[in-house]
Amino acid sequence: MKCAFCSKAIEEGTGMMVVDRNGKLLPFDSTKCEKNMLKLNRDSRDFKWANNQSGRK
Ligand SMILES: [Zn+2]
Repeated sequence: MKCAFCSKAIEEGTGMMVVDRNGKLLPFDSTKCEKNMLKLNRDSRDFKWANNQSGRK
């Protein structure tokens, strides 16, 4: 299994699994990778409700 963000190999019993907004299971080796991935997604334009909340006036 590889990290969904940095593609580093994840050893069994380590890392974490996160479900994205499409219901897809994403493996991460660290919370740092998880945050980077989620931040990139959150930055996308198809999250209009998120843009509204982050001070876009
Ligand atoms: Zn990673």
